[in-house]
Amino acid sequence: MFPPAFNYHRAKSLKEAASMLAQAGQEAKLLAGGQSLIPLMKLRFASPKHLVDLNFIPRLSYIKKYKDELHFGALTRHSEIENSATAAAVPILHDCAAGIADVQIRNRGTLGGSLAEADPSGDWAVVLSTLETSLSCVGQKGERRIPLHDFITDAYTTVLAPDEVVREISVKIPPQGSGGAYLAFKRAAPVYPTASVAVQVTLEGDVCQEVAIRMGCVGLTPIRASQAEGVLRGASLGEKAIEIAAEAARSEADPQPDMRGSAEYKRMLVGVLMKRATYAAVRRARGERVDVSHLYA
Ligand SMILES: Cc1cc2nc3c(=O)[nH]c(=O)nc-3n(C[C@H](O)[C@H](O)[C@H](O)COP(=O)(O)OP(=O)(O)OC[C@H]3O[C@@H](n4cnc5c(N)ncnc54)[C@H](O)[C@@H]3O)c2cc1C
Repeated sequence: MFPPAFNYHRAKSLKEAASMLAQAGQEAKLLAGGQSLIPLMKLRFASPKHLVDLNFIPRLSYIKKYKDELHFGALTRHSEIENSATAAAVPILHDCAAGIADVQIRNRGTLGGSLAEADPSGDWAVVLSTLETSLSCVGQKGERRIPLHDFITDAYTTVLAPDEVVREISVKIPPQGSGGAYLAFKRAAPVYPTASVAVQVTLEGDVCQEVAIRMGCVGLTPIRASQAEGVLRGASLGEKAIEIAAEAARSEADPQPDMRGSAEYKRMLVGVLMKRATYAAVRRARGERVDVSHLYA
């Protein structure tokens, strides 16, 4: 199926992209990898009259370490993060990038596009919410930095103004003694997960000093498992504490039944994923090298 006709604009700079958006108003959409937008247009769920292509703007795709932060250009592809030695400093980023769909989609889809799309089933917002993440966004009025927890407000909804473009995503590198892991349950590789859990723990000895847990696909936005975090924070991370935390996470999930499974099934998955992700995160926090890959039906 072909998308409806549209006008194509090639932006040469972020400033020009912002000005093109401002001129076209609600009728315009930015084009990054097209991996969400083009399927939506083909299905007639989106019919923008103008597409502003970001792909010819220089210096919008990079992965850099500066002091204690990693910086990603908005146009950085999932596969570039998957294969980056710099991004490997934070292993949970590799778990996420390597598990998105298939090679073709990972080669085209971008980090900035994923966060701007705010799909409730998308992986990046879940993972990056367990870290200190912010987005630098450029509009006609200038640039502002938005923490990720303020950026996504609802399913498919962000605080971006109509003329704003995400320029860069910054992620604070967790301290020594911290480890994270991300696990999703998927029906097949090139589909979104049925449920997913990201866990980032910071240990002092065997005791959990800090923990962040987010659940994906079981709510309109990534859901924070605050009660589960409360169970683990200050506790020795043995089997019993992790089991109680998993039970708490199950009750904090807010899944909707759909073609991927019933609400009860997704809750059950959350419990299993939460336990496995926590064990992997703890081992990584202890300095072990642990390979993590998603679970498939
Ligand atoms: C078959 C299939 C399976 C998939 N499976 C998964 C999966 O398992 N997990 C997962 O996380 N994702 C999955 N995806 C989505 C994929 O990860 C895309 O990369 C992601 O949706 C974003 O697409 P994009 O970067 O190509 O952005 P586009 O599709 O080009 O744009 C998406 C939206 O973001 C806006 N936008 C893009 N860039 C910017 C920017 N810099 N600033 C402001 N707004 C911007 C666009 O205007 C548009 O509204 C899948 C996609 C397909 C087609």
